[in-house]
Amino acid sequence: EQIRIEPFMTQTLKRMEDLYPEFAFRMKAEGIGKVVRINPLHLEQMLLIVIENAVKYSAEHKEIDIRCYEEQKRVCISIQDYGIGIPTAEIQHVFDRFYRVDRARSREIEGTGLGLAIAKNLISLYQGDIEITSIENKGTRVTLTFPAVSS
Ligand code: ATP
Ligand code: MG
Repeated sequence: EQIRIEPFMTQTLKRMEDLYPEFAFRMKAEGIGKVVRINPLHLEQMLLIVIENAVKYSAEHKEIDIRCYEEQKRVCISIQDYGIGIPTAEIQHVFDRFYRVDRARSREIEGTGLGLAIAKNLISLYQGDIEITSIENKGTRVTLTFPAVSS
């Protein structure tokens, strides 16, 4: 199924604003002419996992920036938060099932450590990729990329 990213993201963000009214979601979509071929429920599930993390691990800075753009024939969606971040040495592990960074830190924040493992499995069905860059106490950016299809 083909999805046009911009309207899909606008709709998803409306739902996020309803779910998390204390957060400000900002979206920038830069000339997204291409579409992606993906089951919309799968894309929605991946976005929910990543945005829920951005919300959970944001601490007091309650803004989330979402960018959609094309790069080298790939459609990219990045989700940036300004929260507690992930130590560099831990980033490689967060896609492992049940892995959670620093038990003490995540004790107050509930979770099973499955979200990103599921997102990674889903995205691999579509030749997609999920990448994380993060700075501790500054924030985290998660970027999803998919092969672009000409509409
Ligand atoms: P679940 O999603 O299953 O409810 P979870 O959020 O702990 O639980 P994942 O979504 O797989 O599990 O994330 C794994 C770990 O990566 C988290 O426990 C957290 O330590 C870290 N993490 C993920 N996203 C972020 C983020 N945006 N900022 C800071 N840490 C993050
Ligand atoms: Mg999670």
